[in-house]
Amino acid sequence: MKANCWFGKRDVQVVDVPEPAILNSHDAIVKITSTAICGSDLHLYNGLVPTMEKGDILGHEFMGDVVEVGSAVTKLKTGDRVVVAFPISCGNCFFCRRELFSLCENTNPNAWLAQKLFGHSPAGLYGYTHMLGGFAGGQAEYVRVPFADVGTLKVPDQLSDEQVLFLSDIFPTGYMAAENCNIQAGDTVAVWGCGPVGQFAMKSALMLGAERVIGIDRFPYRMNIARKNTGAEVINYEKCDVYETLMDMTGGLGPDACIDAVGMEAHVPGVIGAYDRAKQAMMLEADRPHVLRQAILACRKGGTVSIPGVYGGFDDKIPLGALMNKALTFKTGQTHVQHYLEPLLGRISSGEIDPSFIVTHEMPLEDAPRAFELFLNKQDDCLKVVLKPH
Ligand code: NAD
Ligand code: ZN
Ligand code: ZN
Repeated sequence: MKANCWFGKRDVQVVDVPEPAILNSHDAIVKITSTAICGSDLHLYNGLVPTMEKGDILGHEFMGDVVEVGSAVTKLKTGDRVVVAFPISCGNCFFCRRELFSLCENTNPNAWLAQKLFGHSPAGLYGYTHMLGGFAGGQAEYVRVPFADVGTLKVPDQLSDEQVLFLSDIFPTGYMAAENCNIQAGDTVAVWGCGPVGQFAMKSALMLGAERVIGIDRFPYRMNIARKNTGAEVINYEKCDVYETLMDMTGGLGPDACIDAVGMEAHVPGVIGAYDRAKQAMMLEADRPHVLRQAILACRKGGTVSIPGVYGGFDDKIPLGALMNKALTFKTGQTHVQHYLEPLLGRISSGEIDPSFIVTHEMPLEDAPRAFELFLNKQDDCLKVVLKPH
């Protein structure tokens, strides 16, 4: 079959690889109808996350038709149309029983590697490094889905792929980021990043009762999509001082919650940017935590900083003094996608949200290398690419 594979920094190629097979009685094989590129894939593409190996199949946002099930799979049968959650979770461990699916204890065969870096290992993820399991991803014609009863959601035929595909990751990710803000009536929520995750965080914050949402980015087409589709007010961080602007907009109080939907590859102007870039390039600092610093400083006293943006390691100059003295709450995590699948499908089915608003490009899987370039460089007003393997 064809699959989009990682070969090194800024080098992905669609090549022929063996088709997956059932390895465990809880597996299913899914024939992929739609798969997307995530901001998290860009961190791999830019060579910033260790333990990728040449030939690894990328992709953790995908859906399709079940073509084979293992003998222990009870909820699925051949022909079912499913969306797959990006964390691989057993459904039965301490964490899965508490619905903290991205923290599953049983699905990362390389847990020792992650333990060295993080103290404990999160769940295995599709197409996301050997440290997180070395699982083949879904930018391919077929994929093996371990613990298929836990990680899939059947979707109704009347909804298009583009309406349900993002249940695999970014809609639940934006929603969990907003839910983590403990939003109260009247709240203002500021969201750094008008990428796909930021868009869903803004939309979700309003669905969860925020009075105002403020989106922050520098690409006008992304800011416009946020304004038109989510109802956010937007500010361009290149044209203003973000802290001063947020204080002006909130009567000096600061936003009640701040969402960092940017993560480790923040674009950082000025001296601090040069510092982060140089240290990251020399592997002395894992991330460029500029947005996190801004969010902590801008957040109102007693407020929440919610971090869906991915960070990898050890970082400098995080204003912990502000975090402590302002009594802020930090909430973060890889998304517990399985926990959100059914309720968010409900919101799509009822017409409350149509996630397809973020799709700007649809391309055959063969064009994955060009799609990565478009998405990385924000060319052709690219916000989200859906790849079609068949
Ligand atoms: P994206 O790269 O398309 O979007 C990031 C946006 O941030 C861009 O529009 C960029 O212009 C903007 N940005 C960069 N620097 C900024 C700054 N200094 N201030 C404000 N905005 C800035 O990516 P995405 O798909 O939206 O993903 C966003 C983040 O969420 C990534 O770090 C990704 O890895 C992470 N993510 C996390 C999870 C999870 O489970 N927690 C799931 C999916 C994605
Ligand atoms: Zn993702
Ligand atoms: Zn588990």
